[in-house]
Order: sequence, then C-alpha cells, then structure tokens
Amino acid sequence: MKLDLLHPEIQFALNSVKQAMQLAKQIQAETAGHSLAKTDKSPVTIADFAIQALVGALLLRTFPNDPLVGEESAATLKSKESEQVLSKITHYVKKILPEANPKTVCDWIDCGTGKTSQRFWTLDPIDGTRGFLRGGQYAVALALIVKGRVELGILGCPHLNTQAQPEVDANNPGAIFIAVKGKGAWSLSANDSNHLSQLHVSSCVNPRQALILNSVEMSHTDVREFNSVMCTLGLQRTPFLMDSLAKHAVVAAGQADIFFRSLPPKDPNYRTAIWDEAAGALLVEEAGGKMSDLYGKPLDFSYGETLANNVGVVATNGHLHQAVLEALAKARS
Ligand code: AMP
Ligand code: MG
Repeated sequence: MKLDLLHPEIQFALNSVKQAMQLAKQIQAETAGHSLAKTDKSPVTIADFAIQALVGALLLRTFPNDPLVGEESAATLKSKESEQVLSKITHYVKKILPEANPKTVCDWIDCGTGKTSQRFWTLDPIDGTRGFLRGGQYAVALALIVKGRVELGILGCPHLNTQAQPEVDANNPGAIFIAVKGKGAWSLSANDSNHLSQLHVSSCVNPRQALILNSVEMSHTDVREFNSVMCTLGLQRTPFLMDSLAKHAVVAAGQADIFFRSLPPKDPNYRTAIWDEAAGALLVEEAGGKMSDLYGKPLDFSYGETLANNVGVVATNGHLHQAVLEALAKARS
C-alpha cells in the first residue's frame, strides 16, 4: 500500500511535524538544559510552547474548524514574570511564522486547549521533555481522532534514524513515522519526503530472544513489575532504556519487540493522556503489532483527554502480546 502524500490531512501533519522538528532542534542547540517549572514540576521548555504555538497556528489556517487538544496552555505565560520567556518563545516561532508576536503566540498555544469532539487533533509538542533536556530521545506527536478512533498518527523523532535503531543518532536529520488507519505505517527522513519505507513489526516469537524497551525515567513505571515480567518471560537481552514515544516507533519498525508501562507505585491512579499514546499506538498497530492496556483491554480514545478506561499500556509485535499479558497478571497476583 502507498501513502498518499497529497491527502490534505497527511500534508498538514507532515508539514507541521517537519517544521516542529526544525524548531525543536534549533531550540535544543541554543538553550540546552534550560527548563522552566510547570505547576506539576515537570520540566517544560521553550520548545514545548513554541511547537504548540506553531501547530496551533498551522491548524487554524488549514482546518479552522478542527479543535486541537494539546498538552500545554498559555496560562502561565501571561504574567509579568513570564515576559522574558514569552519573548524567547516568540523569537523562535517568528523563525517559521514571521507575523508572530507575544499575543498571537499565546492565542496559538491556546488553540491547543480545545475540547475533544467527533473530530479533533491531539498534540504532545515534546513528548519526553526530560529526554530533550538530556540529549536523549524525544518526539513531536500529533494524531487525528475521529469518533474516538485514531485515524492518523505521526511522530517526529529528531534523534532516531529512519530504520528506528534505538540508539541516539543526533548526526542525521531525524525521522518521521506516520500511520494511517487501515492503510499502514511508514518512515521517512525529516529532510526527504520522497523515500518512504513501510514499517513492519518483528517476527520474534521467542521471548528469550526478544528486546524489551523501558523508560529512562523509572518513576514513570513500576520497576518491580518490570523485573517480574522479565523473569517470567525469561528475557535474555538487556532491556534498552529510552525516552518518549520514540519507543513505539522502534517497536513498529521491528527493532524491538516489547514495551509496556505499568502504573508507578507512588501514583496508582495515573492515567495516560491521549496525546501520550494516540500517534504511537496507531503506528504499532498499522505496522502489524498489538496495543492494549495492562489487562489486555483495547486502548479507548473516546473518553476525553485521558485513557480513563485503561490502565497502563502494552505495545508488542503481536506474537508476544499474550505472553506479556500473562506475565503481567502473574506479577500482580
Ligand atoms: P517516557 O516515555 O517514560 O520516557 O516519558 C515520557 C512520558 O511519560 C510522557 O508521555 C509523560 O506524560 C509520561 N509520564 C509522566 N509522568 C508519568 C508518571 N508519573 N507515570 C507514568 N508516565 C508518566
Ligand atoms: Mg508526553
């Protein structure tokens, strides 16, 4: 199957993510390590805001009736103390949209405070902010959801190559991964849309040979449950730790076989935000893999801004899914 690059939604998604990656790379090169504290204390960078402003503005131009449900809001940027930060964000947005000023930038960021509806886009401007700050993996994640179903998902991964080898590759232009419901999943280089490779998950059926991915940030998961699953499955290969939704691209491209996110013990009510899974989940499924929650339930994107009906996430090449679910059940018992 081929990807129709002239399809309006695909064109918009590719164009937005390409420009977002360009901004992210430039901001990273110039402000590395500089983060602000969000009210929940997670690091949020100028890049998160600049990219949400960019995508908000592009969406307003292209599909003015489509809501955008994004991770950020401009609320904290409107105070006197934030003047300098807002001016920095505006400086970067202007590089792509020269008409930007502090007021329009706040308005564009707040385009992303839309509500979920029959048809909307969801954006994580920088998924894996800690990876971004450390020079690790991070991803720009954008998805189109129609009637609760993810129809299009796209990840921009500046530190992955198009084969999605999991190691950080900062010397290449970065890779884009795109999936369309029922049509397949592809990768392409961030600076060359003419060469698309279709993605296929691995054919690994033996857990002993499987490669499992995990977060670098151990506070995002349950380490005891992870170790228990490793042991039950008899996984022989050392787990590969990487940040962000880039993990889903690596599974979709067949470079790894398993990823799951258990609930952190200190935060048992944690529910995944839709922008943290939508694009990556479609990529894995369209590459032939399987997604579910920790209990095997399909991910349900029709419940507002979080996967309120699901507990954690499991992504596999499909062949190993049942074995992972059984090992998780054993870990809980
Ligand atoms: P990771 O994929 O673990 O490298 O880190 C990025 C993702 O972790 C983001 O999608 C965050 O929303 C998510 N995240 C942040 N805090 C938590 C938490 N307490 N538990 C689980 N996931 C989290
Ligand atoms: Mg995120």
